Amino acid sequence: MKPFEMALPRSVEEATRLLPDTIGDDRARLLAGGQDLLTEMKEHLVEPDVVVNLKSVPGLAGIEDEGSAVRIGALTTLATLEAFAAQSPFEGCERGFRMLLEAVESVASPQIRSQATLGGNLNQRPRCWYYRMEQFPCLKKGGTECFSYYGKNRYNAILGGGPSYIVHPSDLAVALTALDAEVELVGPTGTRSMLVEDFFVLPSEGDPLRETRIAANEVLSCVRIPKASMARKSVWLKFKERDAYDFALASVALSAEHAGDGSYGDVRLVLGGVAPTPWRCHRTEKKLLGREPGEDASVLAQEDALAEAEPLSENGYKVPLTKGLIAQALLRIEEVR
Ligand SMILES: Cc1cc2nc3c(=O)[nH]c(=O)nc-3n(C[C@H](O)[C@H](O)[C@H](O)COP(=O)(O)OP(=O)(O)OC[C@H]3O[C@@H](n4cnc5c(N)ncnc54)[C@H](O)[C@@H]3O)c2cc1C
Repeated sequence: MKPFEMALPRSVEEATRLLPDTIGDDRARLLAGGQDLLTEMKEHLVEPDVVVNLKSVPGLAGIEDEGSAVRIGALTTLATLEAFAAQSPFEGCERGFRMLLEAVESVASPQIRSQATLGGNLNQRPRCWYYRMEQFPCLKKGGTECFSYYGKNRYNAILGGGPSYIVHPSDLAVALTALDAEVELVGPTGTRSMLVEDFFVLPSEGDPLRETRIAANEVLSCVRIPKASMARKSVWLKFKERDAYDFALASVALSAEHAGDGSYGDVRLVLGGVAPTPWRCHRTEKKLLGREPGEDASVLAQEDALAEAEPLSENGYKVPLTKGLIAQALLRIEEVR
């Protein structure tokens, strides 16, 4: 690993001033729990001169009741979120916390969750092995090609791919999208908020070097989840290749409210492990509105959500796998009380 200096800012504003202005300029990088950044540094994927340690900033961790929203500080560890969600102390938020608990428990291992933070989880870099191996000058590292397109692509995208075919690795990004959560970003000129859904960006929509809309000199300070969304029935399902800790081959976050007649009144259907961003199925959600839960609605949702899937040579299995998870999620949500 290249030697580096450690900066210990005392405020988010001070941290932003230590960061470079442009994406791709890696002279300084933020450090939270270090579960991804340090691996990247050891693999020579990023070689910052300065590591800006967010742990020296007071007040960035913690979960608060803000009245109409739940605020989760960026430096909150996944273990803290897990313990908090298990207790679910905020009235009316029990269903949302139950789904977040399912999602956070599915992330990595207890040891990793004890260090990894929410901000780091949302900003972690892709797991595609062409990106992770120093020897491959892939599109994500400023090269001209996504090697997975013709190469080993068992774990890559079937939806929204091109020119890069990564899948976003964050499970919490998928769950938080289904809960209409927002991220707060602090930069040198002020603070802005956006939906988690809008925070992530497809490679075709912008710079393939990046997965999010965060500026190089911004810090993600917190996530806010509206209590109205926490009150909806929600479920999380993740399919892994092995029982031990692993990233999703596919996941589904479903959040729904039923109308008085039992039909779907309000639905969020978000897929993970299949696209370069959390993949929200807006069209499918609309088609479910007003329909009775049951076999017909389930088949419609499965077919519609995967209608645009374009599997690569080795990942066609993700289509039936994701359909199966959608079917299971629609069944399970009927059992949520
Ligand atoms: C073996 C293993 C298995 C894993 N399995 C899963 C899994 O199943 N599901 C899953 O979702 N994740 C998984 N992870 C990823 C793990 O959850 C992340 O590595 C972790 O959440 C990163 O958090 P961190 O605080 O350690 O971030 P760091 O490593 O400190 O930072 C990660 C990135 O985010 C940036 N960053 C950190 N905080 C902020 C902030 N507040 N604002 C802006 N940028 C920031 C850093 O600059 C860096 O680029 C796994 C990791 C490992 C090592």
